[in-house]
Amino acid sequence: MDLAAPPSQLPDALRLRRHLHIGGEWTHPAGADVIDVESPSTGELIGQVPAGTAADVDAAVTAARAAFPGWAASAPAERAAHLDRLHTALAARADDLARTIAVELGAPLKLATRVQVGLPLTVLRDHVTLAARPAVEESIGNSLVVREPIGVVGAITPWNYPLHQVMAKVAPALAAGCTVVLKPSELTPLTAYLLFDAVTEAGLPPGVLNLVPGTGPVVGEALAGHRDVDLVSFTGSTATGSRIMRLAADRIARVALELGGKSANVILADADLATAVKVGVGNALLNSGQTCTAWTRMLVHRDRYAEALDLVATAVAGYRLGDPFDPATRLGPLVSAAQAERVRGHIDRALADGARLVAGGPEAPVPGGGHFVAPTVFADVHPASPLAQEEVFGPVLAVIPFTDTDEAVAIANNSRYGLAGAVWSADTDAALAVARRLRTGAVDINGAPFNPLAPFGGFKQSGIGRELGVHGLAEFCELKTIQR
Ligand code: NAD
Repeated sequence: MDLAAPPSQLPDALRLRRHLHIGGEWTHPAGADVIDVESPSTGELIGQVPAGTAADVDAAVTAARAAFPGWAASAPAERAAHLDRLHTALAARADDLARTIAVELGAPLKLATRVQVGLPLTVLRDHVTLAARPAVEESIGNSLVVREPIGVVGAITPWNYPLHQVMAKVAPALAAGCTVVLKPSELTPLTAYLLFDAVTEAGLPPGVLNLVPGTGPVVGEALAGHRDVDLVSFTGSTATGSRIMRLAADRIARVALELGGKSANVILADADLATAVKVGVGNALLNSGQTCTAWTRMLVHRDRYAEALDLVATAVAGYRLGDPFDPATRLGPLVSAAQAERVRGHIDRALADGARLVAGGPEAPVPGGGHFVAPTVFADVHPASPLAQEEVFGPVLAVIPFTDTDEAVAIANNSRYGLAGAVWSADTDAALAVARRLRTGAVDINGAPFNPLAPFGGFKQSGIGRELGVHGLAEFCELKTIQR
């Protein structure tokens, strides 16, 4: 096999992986099929991993089940010490992780380093602290209410933040005393291999964390439908989340679902417009728009609408597309040819629907070779049109005018999703009042920073349950009531 990508960009040991990680060992897969890993920046083949099978899933779940009683009974301090060692081993691989994510996802190296790797390291660090705390117990009348780990977790993750999405499940699951079988996205599996190199170095007890790479229809379905998986923790599209609920329903398995979004960025008339637009555009385009929380609908008061559109066009012009390893690059490619094609389809339909092109579009120049799509902005987007309703998952922003706050709230809430959102106003009380009216899992006022200890998750079709912090940890626990 001829593999591309300069050696300085991707550790050689990572390119050809032939094993799964089950029961604390690198094991051979049951089948011989492989998954080719591609560089979205160049379209070249850069690595291969095994395509797991249902038999592999069964072996991994069996290992996780066998490890569960011992891990669940271990002292919180012991689990915290294991997570601490994992953090050390992972942090030592931070550069390799960032370069791997830049290669297999196409994220600009700076973003890959600061966000794609920096955030999950923070999340793991936080869970060292959370794991060390004694389990929360509560007395209600004559009852003692205790928390117990839920059991074996099947974790299924997407490609857009290949380490963070994994860590947001693995860290709390292990901290709570659960054991895990992980199926990472088939588009970005190399990052997971680096994680398991760290797991091996950290010496986690055998079977506590297992890796079965593979496709959704084969490994994902087998894991979600496995009779011995107690909780399926899934991040991905709403369509797949719905399928996973059906697979889990037969045995009443628990599900935790982090799904899609179409979040609204509400800019009130008295907002600091320059900042609101700059931050809003940056949020919509982060990771080439492949972010579930992206504020992809910018709602602007009519009094500031023309001014806002000028600012949007100027901001977008500053986003240079290119090689993720070029320091001047601000936007990488989309993850795959299929994803780029889907996004172009959304752009074409918005044009056909009469939305006004403000920046980008199908004719805008993009670098050759990879799956690049120019950052694209439409104005006068009808709130009920497909562009305002469907998740694009690419660098496409819809700008929508509103006349008063009630209309802004109605437009923002006119969505089957409810994951994130923003409000901008010089009057923080007014902004807070609007934030309270938005039917969504998170709202940032005036660009307030992301808080990785606060609950993360969605209303409506954006999901079920919450990740991160104490609320995320609770997702991996059952409550038991003991009367005395
Ligand atoms: P996807 O649903 O196609 O795939 C996600 C994972 O599910 C992958 O590992 C895939 O192999 C697996 N899968 C696919 N079909 C399956 C099946 N039938 N049974 C079991 N597993 C299956 O999503 P994606 O394209 O990888 O990711 C993009 C989507 O993820 C977007 O919709 C985005 O909004 C969403 N997302 C949500 C969050 C969040 O926290 N809410 C975060 C990131 C991404």
